[in-house]
Amino acid sequence: MEITGKNILVAGLARTGVAVARFLAKNGARVTVTDLRDEAALSGPLGELAGLDLRYVLGRHDEADFAAADTVVVSPGVPQESPYLEAARQAGREVITEIELASRFIAAPVVAITGTNGKTTTTTLTGEIFKACGYRTFVGGNIGNPLVELVEEGEEVERVVVEISSFQLEWITTFRPRVAVLLNITEDHLDRYPTFQDYIDAKVRIFENQSATDYAVLNVDDPLVASLQTGLAAAVFPMSQRKELDEGIFHRDGVITFRHQGREERFPTGRFRITGVHNIENIMAALASTLLLGCDATQALAAVEGFAGLPHRMELVRELDGVRYYEDSKATNVGSVEKALASFTDITLIAGGKDKGGAYAPLAPLVKERVRHMILIGEARERMAQELGSLTDTRMATTLDEAVELAAQLTEPGGVVLFSPACSSFDMFRDYEERARRFRDAVNALGTGERP
Ligand code: ADP
Repeated sequence: MEITGKNILVAGLARTGVAVARFLAKNGARVTVTDLRDEAALSGPLGELAGLDLRYVLGRHDEADFAAADTVVVSPGVPQESPYLEAARQAGREVITEIELASRFIAAPVVAITGTNGKTTTTTLTGEIFKACGYRTFVGGNIGNPLVELVEEGEEVERVVVEISSFQLEWITTFRPRVAVLLNITEDHLDRYPTFQDYIDAKVRIFENQSATDYAVLNVDDPLVASLQTGLAAAVFPMSQRKELDEGIFHRDGVITFRHQGREERFPTGRFRITGVHNIENIMAALASTLLLGCDATQALAAVEGFAGLPHRMELVRELDGVRYYEDSKATNVGSVEKALASFTDITLIAGGKDKGGAYAPLAPLVKERVRHMILIGEARERMAQELGSLTDTRMATTLDEAVELAAQLTEPGGVVLFSPACSSFDMFRDYEERARRFRDAVNALGTGERP
């Protein structure tokens, strides 16, 4: 892709937009930057761009800019049906996201990881394994460092691992990972997609530019993912915890076995620090991706054994009076809560938050079987109560602090208090991290007589 002298519009000034604008300007493009937020709200990002020769349209978008640009680089948060993007398309302009732009400048093999849940955990672990095996590795995408920063730095990177969301996949045109991983697909983001099928269609695009020399790592225990096994151009590399595979990676009786073209490697799970069926899924995906791209099994095993997991994903906060308190603030959809419920019994579940429009009923069997008490908070609590309330003792709380105090009163020794919301946090909190802090503070205040 030629950048020099091109007229490129960067729409959306979050961290990624800043990195994109900087990269393009340094490489001689004529860059316009636009954001609906005004100058005052953007002081942070604008500070980072100081000194660069950019044209700004702030506090509004101008359709004419979208129609005139050679290429529009859009923040993945902007919906497909935005009238501004429509103006660009009408004028025959190219609309892409940062992942697509950056990938055009990357020579190293890319592992791309998507799925409804487990992306960040799998991406981080995949990066750790590559590093342990001696590869200079860049880990980025949805997870923090924009990919374009790698291109900008011009580092000699040997392996690239990207976490990629359905929103970013909507805008790819040539993005072609050497290994594409699809972990699972369950309902999510129905506030953004008209139907579940639209969300599935976006996820599947991760494979669309691959060819027979690339790999598609598919979790065939997930029925939707399994249905993709035929019809992909890439070589399918399946993973399963249910069946033994001659080619692929599978888990049986405490051993993960990798088999590929006559090579067999075995990984005992006994010393893994992250546990649960869902983490075995994440570990298998990371092992498959790294072994397919040159990693040694002994070094890979050591990296997995050293991996302690990420915060806010089923983290034990405290044990008090025989009750364990787990914080799973990152569980923002039904699929992730299912995994959390499947990991415990005698649960007091605290859930609720901003409603994303999906059904809560898929949780019914696990709620019935394992949840003794359910305490609901936030905007979604009425709907959750309608769908699940008859299955267990269900109460409402106005704040998270109140929910924690109530949970402490209700839960018997030996039980678990699990905060796994099934919703996003934006009704009551800035983000899932602030929500997590609030829960942890409330839990740590229990028994001290103090309010958090
Ligand atoms: P993502 O980046 O896709 O949101 P995370 O690794 O951040 O995934 O985990 C998000 C939530 O999903 C956490 O609650 C975590 O416990 C749960 N989770 C992690 N891996 C899986 C998986 N493979 N299947 C289902 N849930 C998972």
